[in-house]
Amino acid sequence: MQYESTRNPDSLVESAMAIKMGLSPEGGLFVPTSIPKLTQGEIMKLAELGYNARAVEILKLYLTDFSLEEVKECVDHAYNKDKFETVNIAPIYQLHEQCYFLELWHGPTCAFKDMALQILPHLLIKSAQKTGEDKEIVILVATSGDTGKAALEGFKNVPGTRIIVFYPNEGVSDIQKLQMVTQEGDNVHVMAVKGNFDDAQNGVKKIFTDPLYAAELSEKGFVLSSANSINWGRLLPQIVYYFSTYADLMKNEEINPGDKINVVVPTGNFGNILACYYAKEMGLPIHKMICASNENNVLTDFIHTGIYDRNRTFKLTASPSMDILISSNLERLLFLLANRDATQINAWMDSLKTAGKYEVDSATKEKITASFWAGSCDDAQTFDAIRQVSEQFSYVMDTHTAVGKCVYDQYVTATGDKTKTVIASTASPFKFSQDVLSALQPDEDLSQSSAFELLQILSEQSGMRIPPALGDLRNKTVRFGETCEKEDMQAVVSTLLEG
Ligand SMILES: *Cc1c(COP(=O)(O)O)cnc(C)c1O
Repeated sequence: MQYESTRNPDSLVESAMAIKMGLSPEGGLFVPTSIPKLTQGEIMKLAELGYNARAVEILKLYLTDFSLEEVKECVDHAYNKDKFETVNIAPIYQLHEQCYFLELWHGPTCAFKDMALQILPHLLIKSAQKTGEDKEIVILVATSGDTGKAALEGFKNVPGTRIIVFYPNEGVSDIQKLQMVTQEGDNVHVMAVKGNFDDAQNGVKKIFTDPLYAAELSEKGFVLSSANSINWGRLLPQIVYYFSTYADLMKNEEINPGDKINVVVPTGNFGNILACYYAKEMGLPIHKMICASNENNVLTDFIHTGIYDRNRTFKLTASPSMDILISSNLERLLFLLANRDATQINAWMDSLKTAGKYEVDSATKEKITASFWAGSCDDAQTFDAIRQVSEQFSYVMDTHTAVGKCVYDQYVTATGDKTKTVIASTASPFKFSQDVLSALQPDEDLSQSSAFELLQILSEQSGMRIPPALGDLRNKTVRFGETCEKEDMQAVVSTLLEG
């Protein structure tokens, strides 16, 4: 299996190179040159396997330059009982006869990013070895919360790597900050940056795009890399859980082999839902993919009109991991729908860069509406969904998952479709305790409660156990209390790497 760039058809590489490079040099994203297919018989067989064996069946189709043994090693390092709370890894929860949650948050940081970031370091290390890379890999991350912690947990103590995470001192929640500054591991560094997320992100981008600095690091034996969600090594592991869910539904006799299901995905960067599209193209029987957005509903408008227009006010919402106006992975979908026409992709992406918008042709638009349905909701609707589901079903959703549920209800009202539907549940409600509690008990004043008190109250309210990864933060030592100026980020990297 070879990989091509969405912006340059001549740049063919193997999967190891695509994963090591992350982004193609001209700015395009790597995609496999063809999509492997599974027969119905092969999908049925998955029902007899555990999560890891299912993962190997899917990953080996794309990682053809890895040996089967190597694929298995990566999978087993990532998905095991030390890292995940459940042996199922990604269990389903049945809400009612036709609606299920796919719980993707039983990993070490309680959000779905673990599903990819637990395995990416192992894929990356093997990819570096295969491509003859002999330097130590330095992962640089700027984070607004979830990604930084998930990357730290994924890369901690992985030989041959170091990870440096910058977070803005204004703008991450107390729990998120505690999760990062207490991070364990010998190869990890965490630093606050005076400023907001953009300052941290611009600083990291500047370091990445400075060729002189890259040469300087190279002489010292380091090479920079990113754990960003546009890396194929992050997208690929996400395809697995859609097959796994379908296999579980068959195994539990909720569906018959070949039955179609719908999937709802609360969406930000379009990574998770794109993985679902790949699963569908590989032969998984999916009727509709429902793209759920919060008030930053640029994707909803795009799917309805064919016009992608980021010229709008950025809103801070209660589902912050979906507060995104440029959904990078959409480029991969467009490339597939526009018959792999890199010239067309370049034109659209240039227009996005210069005018902040582009419009796709009618053939592409029709293909989008054939597969996708889209909707959005605001914070008040999100909170209503949390409260209603809790009252009716005694199940407590986090704010991101609630956006998914809310848009699913819109879909059913609009279409009357009774197809069994799986909603991707992307975070533990404990990760967003404050908002979840204010949805459950709008009249209580929780402003004086500490982050740990909120965990406790939510546990009593929901009857759910506090995830140990969050509850135990109380007893952890703060290892990284330092703050730097945004101008000094490069110097900080140099100093940390000398230590
Ligand atoms: C990152 C994230 C999302 C959005 O996923 P994309 O792949 O960026 O679309 C949704 N929910 C949570 C909790 C997340 O952390």
